Amino acid sequence: MAEHNLAYNTESLQQQDNQHYLHPFSDHKSLREQGARMIVKADGVYIWDSDGNKILDGMAGLWCTNIGYGQKSLANVAFEQMNELPYYNSFFQCAHPPAVELAKEIAELAPPHMNQVFFTGSGSESNDTVLRMVRHYWNLKGKPEKFTIIGRHNGYHGSTVAGASLGGMKPMHQQGGLPIPGIHHIPQPYWFGEGGDLSPEEFGIQAAQELEKAIQDIGEDKVAAFIAEPIQGAGGVVIPPDTYWPEIKKILAKHDILLIVDEVICGFGRTGEWFGSQYFGLEPDFMPIAKGLTSGYIPMGGVIVSDRVAGVFEQEGGEFYHGYTYSGHPVAAAVARENIRLIKEKGLVEYVKNDIGPYLQQAWKTLGDHPLVGETRGLGLLAALEVVQEKEGRVRFDSDLDVGGMCRNTSVSNGLVMRAVGDTLIISPPMIISRDEVDELITKARKTLDLTMESLKQQGLY
Ligand code: PMP
Repeated sequence: MAEHNLAYNTESLQQQDNQHYLHPFSDHKSLREQGARMIVKADGVYIWDSDGNKILDGMAGLWCTNIGYGQKSLANVAFEQMNELPYYNSFFQCAHPPAVELAKEIAELAPPHMNQVFFTGSGSESNDTVLRMVRHYWNLKGKPEKFTIIGRHNGYHGSTVAGASLGGMKPMHQQGGLPIPGIHHIPQPYWFGEGGDLSPEEFGIQAAQELEKAIQDIGEDKVAAFIAEPIQGAGGVVIPPDTYWPEIKKILAKHDILLIVDEVICGFGRTGEWFGSQYFGLEPDFMPIAKGLTSGYIPMGGVIVSDRVAGVFEQEGGEFYHGYTYSGHPVAAAVARENIRLIKEKGLVEYVKNDIGPYLQQAWKTLGDHPLVGETRGLGLLAALEVVQEKEGRVRFDSDLDVGGMCRNTSVSNGLVMRAVGDTLIISPPMIISRDEVDELITKARKTLDLTMESLKQQGLY
């Protein structure tokens, strides 16, 4: 598979990595034993490692390189902006053209009632911002007791203290006494894992009703907001049953609480709409964004804010004591503008909706006949499959076997990045992926399943 003989010394890089580099979300004991794969270049939907292996990136990096790799114009605008104005802030009554113009362009893409943007450096910072803005809003409204934010188990909203608290990842909560006060979690709409004997439709209603129950238990006068991803990404591409969002909308319509729709993954085209909120017909007060905003070429995030919330900030006044040195960074903003321009020019959102999204979904579904696959699901350019020991009754492998991890490693060794969340395999490829590349992805995914099954059989585990 070695197609490119690049001049990298893998062993030396791994040695330095082991000695000096602490990785995000990693077990450093096993990482040090195994050594990291060094990714050295990328183009289109492919990445190359330091040994010359060419790998189809089925995850668009970390759900972010929507525009694909190798878009030179993004590098060019960064170069030009660095020469013109490499940095300035928007504190102390200042602003600069790239941030102002980007905010306007984002507002034009967002639902009509959302017209203002606060910039951050990442998705986590966006959710920290949301938590503080929600509480600022209710303070200004004279209702500081509306303090509790309701999130969901297995939701992901980032890794900072507020982001991890809003998220519902138990292992993250266990490290360091999270969540912080004023956050409550309700069950997730994950039918395959938690739906029991209910139909997906029945389960969707039941999961949504958990929000109503929580509002009743906590008291509407104490609930500030509900936060959710349109589709849970890091939780395993959990696509709620069709009944879920309509039922949530009914519940929200009855109560005076804010809606936060975390668009960090779904934003910028992944569902075939600019935002997941538009796909599901939601009317959020806040949309945290990041990733696809710059296609990952440079760090940047933001929060798109509704007129009703921004209007209160403007009418009531009072400083919002929050902001980052790099809020609205001019180089990042220039790159984001060029990224959005390219997505529009290439018609990528429409391509996901009408062409490559349906094509991928139809092909992904064919994997459902594999003996190891209990369910396939997907939407736009997001997809998941559930690896099972027995299809009937949705019987999982013993979690200690880490069959999901086996699949992921086998897949990468065979030239396809898929990610494993437990025994759920997920993909989120760049939006520029072609039909031929989708075919390659599906062929490699099937090979992964075949090789994993063979290996399980050899070990007497299947
Ligand atoms: N929200 C969601 C829905 C995410 O998927 C992520 C990252 N995977 C984040 C927030 C956090 O973003 P970041 O890693 O840029 O801080």
